[in-house]
Amino acid sequence: MEKKLFEMHLDYLKEQDNEIFDAVIAEKNRQMAGIELIASETLVSQAVLEALATVPTNKYSEGYPGKRYYGGNEFIDVIETLAIERAKKLFGAEHANVQPLSGSPANMAMYFALMEQGDTFMGMKLTEGGHLTHGHKVNFSGQLYNAVQYSVDKETEMLDYDAIKKQAQEAKPKLILSGYTAYPRAIDFKAFREICDEVGAHCVADIAHIAGLCAAGVHENPVPYFDAVTTTTHKTLRGPRGAIIMCRQEFAEKIDKAVFPGLQGGPHSNVNAAKAVAFKEAMKPEFKEWARQVVKNSRALAEALMSSGLRLVSNGTDNHLMLADVFKSKNITGKDAETALEKAGIYCNKNTIPNDTRSPWNPSGIRIGTPVLTIRGMKETHMQEVGKFIVTALDNAGDDSKLVQLKSKVAKFCSDFPFYK
Ligand SMILES: *Cc1c(COP(=O)(O)O)cnc(C)c1O
Repeated sequence: MEKKLFEMHLDYLKEQDNEIFDAVIAEKNRQMAGIELIASETLVSQAVLEALATVPTNKYSEGYPGKRYYGGNEFIDVIETLAIERAKKLFGAEHANVQPLSGSPANMAMYFALMEQGDTFMGMKLTEGGHLTHGHKVNFSGQLYNAVQYSVDKETEMLDYDAIKKQAQEAKPKLILSGYTAYPRAIDFKAFREICDEVGAHCVADIAHIAGLCAAGVHENPVPYFDAVTTTTHKTLRGPRGAIIMCRQEFAEKIDKAVFPGLQGGPHSNVNAAKAVAFKEAMKPEFKEWARQVVKNSRALAEALMSSGLRLVSNGTDNHLMLADVFKSKNITGKDAETALEKAGIYCNKNTIPNDTRSPWNPSGIRIGTPVLTIRGMKETHMQEVGKFIVTALDNAGDDSKLVQLKSKVAKFCSDFPFYK
């Protein structure tokens, strides 16, 4: 039998630990057989996967290139310096710290660097599209700081910059955070810069979701004129799980000290190697082409869903994601919609919508994104079919046998778009 590239690299794992091997292969097969609509997910390249599975994972490297607490860091310095230089070039940053282990600790380090405990900052409310680390009360960000939460406009379900400015003039925050987890529209970062200048706040963005679009020039990139920008590397940047912080030179020392020794210990240098690989890939013309197609696909899917009667938050999308108000359109909760779709091999997540009357555990909406399907080579015409699969699953939410039938159709559809060979 022909050996698959993905599995070829796991020969020893298979021999040594067949339970983990089997689960890993089953997960790969699940990813390939399903329609992946989770807006925060990606499929990394074979090169990123290979970099992850390398020996820098053995090494302790507390500190930064040229200033380590351990010997033997000659080659780790090469890896980390490449990752830093590529991140700076990709986004036009003055300084980059590539050590944050994930998005949440990156935000924590950024707050540590730019605020004192108890300071006031502004972030978007979780239920309106912000992240937990943007000031929610169950999160450190809402506990260590006085988090003033802003919302989207009730009518348009979009950012209202005048309202945010007014709120900022009253709250006098030390920092204003833009960039979101579930906001389907373009963000006017220049407007945030102006508001911050007016009220004297640090101007910061968390571009975890849209980083790949920013790098490709498909969404406004705030990095060159913001004080600091955090991002995960595993969403539209198409890299390994992790994060980076970029900032102006004047904040570089504070940011670096906040990451280490302020918050973390040793960096994960195999992951940082994979970040460097992903940044190099993101500079290629093919990446820009992909990012443009992501938005085209997102718009096509939004049209398909709206024309079959689904209400989308803000009536559409400018980026890689959309929020469907399934409760209003189909009289089904977000949780039940997620479950029905999962039974059909279609993966998305339940999500609150602006002014949701339901709870985050069982909200009114679902969040849908096109990055993964676009990586697999799908175009606008395929979005028509994906839209039909989604609506069919929602319309048959209570009928398990229909959903199982649909799952095999979905798998057949996906088999035309192989990825890990
Ligand atoms: C995903 C996300 C994060 C958190 O990233 P983790 O790696 O899951 O900790 C932070 N901010 C935003 C806006 C995100 O979308």
